[in-house]
Amino acid sequence: MTRRPLQPREGYGDLKVYSPGVTLPCAIDLSDNTNRWGIAPAAAEILRAFDPVDLTRYPTAYADELKQAIAERVGVDAGMIVTGTGSDGVLEPAIRAFSRPGDRMVVADPTFVMAAVFGRMNGLAPVHVPLLESYDADGDGMLAAGGRITYLCSPNNPTGSSFSREVVAAIVADAPGLVIIDEAYAEFAGASALDLALTSDRVLLIRTFSKAFGLAGLRVGYGIGSPGVVAAVEKARGPYTVSAVAERAAIAAARDRSGWMESRVADAVASRALLRDALVALGLEPAPSAANFVFVPIRSAVAIADRLAGEGIRVRAFSGVPQVSEALRDSGGEALRITVAPSEMLERALAALRNVIAAEVAR
Ligand code: PMP
Repeated sequence: MTRRPLQPREGYGDLKVYSPGVTLPCAIDLSDNTNRWGIAPAAAEILRAFDPVDLTRYPTAYADELKQAIAERVGVDAGMIVTGTGSDGVLEPAIRAFSRPGDRMVVADPTFVMAAVFGRMNGLAPVHVPLLESYDADGDGMLAAGGRITYLCSPNNPTGSSFSREVVAAIVADAPGLVIIDEAYAEFAGASALDLALTSDRVLLIRTFSKAFGLAGLRVGYGIGSPGVVAAVEKARGPYTVSAVAERAAIAAARDRSGWMESRVADAVASRALLRDALVALGLEPAPSAANFVFVPIRSAVAIADRLAGEGIRVRAFSGVPQVSEALRDSGGEALRITVAPSEMLERALAALRNVIAAEVAR
């Protein structure tokens, strides 16, 4: 008897594995919004001193001490914190816990691409609602789409724009299901929707140690929400998803009061202003950024990024972005996203960009 080939669940045929577009190592990598100033020293110290013998045992099932350390930093009860393997490892189980296959998931367009992919992995139908001309979220449009899950990323990746308080609050007040507010870049924004997560029982706010704390390779993120929301996400996330070594290092970073993270954030904010000014001086119109990267519509962005990579500089190129702003209409929906960096790296990247743009114009 011949058996039919084994098939994964419906919809998986169209899913692709994630490709960050990175192949060879690059001298100056400004493509992934990680901390180009380095790793939190308090975490580095723990990693250097870590006894490998401790790896023979499992970590605690739900990273209780890490939850406690995060709760103290945020100023909430530990029962309002859930951790995971990066913020990805909180986002995906949150979608799974609060939806059923066939439900709609509403996301802005453009936004963090993995959000909709995680929805599709769980059988949801993503509804992409273009940003407004100001790069703010279209609150009315997102509410009208009526998603079981509404995903808001603020500051938004890739545009860097913060969504306005009124829009976020209106969505939290009226959305029919769970509202996920992804604050992976909140430290650089100086503003947060934390109060909404503390007062609503239908919000999960997500943050990460990957960006401001410089720990992307360790994979630690967390969610903040009402005890009911958090308990459901914790069930979906399962035990042991934060490794023993990652938990120890993240605890050190969370408890660190040396001011390292805050100083690096100040550096990033200063670099952001420099980068924006330099792009404006090139005649470009970058989107307003509250994150550690700048999004700049530019024609031939994909070709420009390729040429920069040839010079040892990696930035992220986007094409097919909804043409919501004049700059995006002018660029045909192409844009670059450039991560901020210490001045030497940034200056080298900008010098190469100036050359490549000059060559592009001359072609
Ligand atoms: N959310 C946003 C908006 C991001 O940009 C990223 C990483 N690029 C993530 C979540 C995932 O980060 P991590 O899993 O490393 O916490």
